[in-house]
Amino acid sequence: TPVEKYRAISPAEFFYKYREIAGFSNPARAIYQTVRELVENALDATDAHGIMPDIKISIRKVDEIQEFYRITVEDNGIGIPPDVVPDAFGRVLFSSKYVLRQTRGMYGLGVKMAVLYGQMTTGRPVEVITSKPGFKRIYYFKLRIDVNRNEPVIIERGSWRKNREWHGTIVSITIEGDWGRAKPKIKEYLFKTAIVTPYANIVALTPDDEIIYYPRIIDKIPRPPLEVKPHPHGVDLELLKQIISSHNYTSVEELLIKGFQSIGEATAKSILQQAGIDPGKPVSELSDNELLSLVNTLKSMKDIRAPSIKAISPLGSDVIIAGLKRVFQPEFVYAVSRRPQAYQGHPFIVEAGIAYGGKTPMSDDDKPIILRYANKIPLLYDEGSDVTTMVVKEDISWDHYMVSFPAPIAILVHVCSTKIPFKGVGKESIADVPEVRKEIKLVLMDVLRELKKYLSKKAKEEELKKRAEH
Ligand code: ADP
Ligand code: MG
Repeated sequence: TPVEKYRAISPAEFFYKYREIAGFSNPARAIYQTVRELVENALDATDAHGIMPDIKISIRKVDEIQEFYRITVEDNGIGIPPDVVPDAFGRVLFSSKYVLRQTRGMYGLGVKMAVLYGQMTTGRPVEVITSKPGFKRIYYFKLRIDVNRNEPVIIERGSWRKNREWHGTIVSITIEGDWGRAKPKIKEYLFKTAIVTPYANIVALTPDDEIIYYPRIIDKIPRPPLEVKPHPHGVDLELLKQIISSHNYTSVEELLIKGFQSIGEATAKSILQQAGIDPGKPVSELSDNELLSLVNTLKSMKDIRAPSIKAISPLGSDVIIAGLKRVFQPEFVYAVSRRPQAYQGHPFIVEAGIAYGGKTPMSDDDKPIILRYANKIPLLYDEGSDVTTMVVKEDISWDHYMVSFPAPIAILVHVCSTKIPFKGVGKESIADVPEVRKEIKLVLMDVLRELKKYLSKKAKEEELKKRAEH
């Protein structure tokens, strides 16, 4: 029989081989996904740090014969320290977003997938220009990824003095793309991004020399998210061991109070009593059984404060209303941001908006136009299997709200959390988690009640008008 050949592969090699799972399956999907990854990094570097985003996108065909496109995205964000640039763009699974804080990115994968795709289709390296606020120099890098080692290879680097106070990042990646097929999706992506970022200037230059421009329409930016410590309800044995090994807590009591959110002295005492552990016991002396008993007590503690919402950044009803007005100029618009809830120790907030009439397009025969968002990113694929679609189709009786389809109705649903239950790494749809599903249903009922009031008032007025005419 043939001999089995064993070997290990690096994360870069894994994602290079299975790039489809990250959305890089063909030249059309790849160009869309590249634009998206760069724009999302640009927005994370701005609004999540309280900076009003100015985002410039350019997609240019750079070869006469081959379908090679150079995609450049510039932001006015926090920039990247020069010593971090090579890993940020050249090491798969390297990120500043592996903390408990709401961001668009979360896997440390996106931009590296685009770099890899460029590398395998055009052979061109990624180019990065960046400077942080207050830095005196601007840094420039050209690099590629060593797939076997999962390491950046710097091809060229340099820096120059700043002669004006510029900060931000400019990234250029050249990939083989299919602009013709990707164009509608990229436009849809920018349109849907513009709806939830009315506080951003977004301008894009396309290969057809078209300029797509969404000027900023409000000066209000959602409160930036802050990093928080883990909540006791989300703990498991591994996480507990990680918290212990990465800090120098002396007693178990200190571990509980300083290592977690929502635990004060009194709570710590009652947890330790329930778990049968002496509060003064040194962390290093905890036995495996004691650790397990601690985890079980933490997970099941009832009278504990809900997870902190500092780490999440909802849009707020003003931003949603401004965004819907920006694109639909509707005759009726309304939005609701619900109170925070929790699942598995993670806080989440569900928000919804509704636009009716004006330039809102006609919906399908069985449902409204659905605009789905998770942590401020639009979800464009897999609508059928998304929890919002399930709620719209199964949990809402539209007749009750005087709505029959088709109708000029768009609903927007935004779920934000430190952990979105995505169905895959492509981040295209949200799974049917009962806690989340319930909130989506409730928020839709909130906005639909207002629509119903509006529609019945309108119907009455029309009725009166008709009578007056007779
Ligand atoms: P993720 O966004 O999931 O963290 P990426 O591979 O897209 O993963 O990006 C890796 C890291 O590079 C980010 O976590 C961030 O720290 C940094 N980065 C990428 N693009 C930018 C940018 N435009 N501005 C500032 N930092 C950036
Ligand atoms: Mg990213």
